[in-house]
Amino acid sequence: MKLKDKIVFVTGASAGIGKACADMFAEEGAKLILLARRKGEIDQLAEELKSKYGTESLTFKCDVRIYDEVEAIVNHLPDEWSHIDILINNAGLARGLEKLHDGVLQNWEEMIDTNIKGLLYVSRLIMPGMVERKNGHVINIASIAGRQVYPNGNVYCASKAAVKAISEGMMIDANGSDIRVTNIDPGLVETEFAKVRFHGDDEKAATVYKGYKPLTGWDVADMALFAATRPAHVCVQDILVTPTDQASATIVHKEL
Ligand code: NAP
Repeated sequence: MKLKDKIVFVTGASAGIGKACADMFAEEGAKLILLARRKGEIDQLAEELKSKYGTESLTFKCDVRIYDEVEAIVNHLPDEWSHIDILINNAGLARGLEKLHDGVLQNWEEMIDTNIKGLLYVSRLIMPGMVERKNGHVINIASIAGRQVYPNGNVYCASKAAVKAISEGMMIDANGSDIRVTNIDPGLVETEFAKVRFHGDDEKAATVYKGYKPLTGWDVADMALFAATRPAHVCVQDILVTPTDQASATIVHKEL
């Protein structure tokens, strides 16, 4: 499958995995629709990709938790941008690392609203066009946390288990429409993720990635690109990708 002039819609494109996906798909000739709350970051990325690869992009400030914001974007795209070929549902976050019985409600709301409801809102608006056109690929960035619960991960793990179930549901419900769905479960990836989890505490965030070689956003984007570039009759449904030093959600070989 060639990506030249395909329209790729990436949520959470201002950092980490989403930003790397934007770059890698742009290099293959795709046109990009980039969303994030930090508009300055995606505008700058669009400019960089324009000068590196000649990429055409649209950028939108959007909080995926707010249905009306997503709707205003998806339902009002210029005609030539409205046939989205690939949706990368990447926007997501972890907040806090507390025992369930000490959980902070606001953190729960934020994770559930972004990781589950945001992904659903975007998909609900984009998938009907894909089904109607009998063409499309949805790539959901879930997590190893959705397969294996780790201590204090409770609600984040639950949100990613939900993403995995949603990926399966999409695949089943769109069966017969030539739609492909790929669920990607990364292990530890060095991005802004840990900094966001620890509410901006850089020192605490850095300890997550010390003593071993974590994945980068590029490694995960590479999986998305692999899935997207298989022939149309091949659907890569599920990918679990970890650093070599990570055997499971909790077993990580570190040399500190
Ligand atoms: P990151 O560097 O923090 O990037 C997260 C992206 O999501 C940012 O672009 C952020 O943009 C966007 N985002 C967050 N909340 C949003 C909202 N309400 N509306 C719109 N955009 C929002 O983290 P990352 O590691 O690349 O995470 C990407 C995905 O991978 C997430 O779903 C995460 O759960 C998953 N994941 C990460 C890891 C890891 O170890 N890093 C492992 C497994 C899975 P703005 O802040 O500008 O809105």
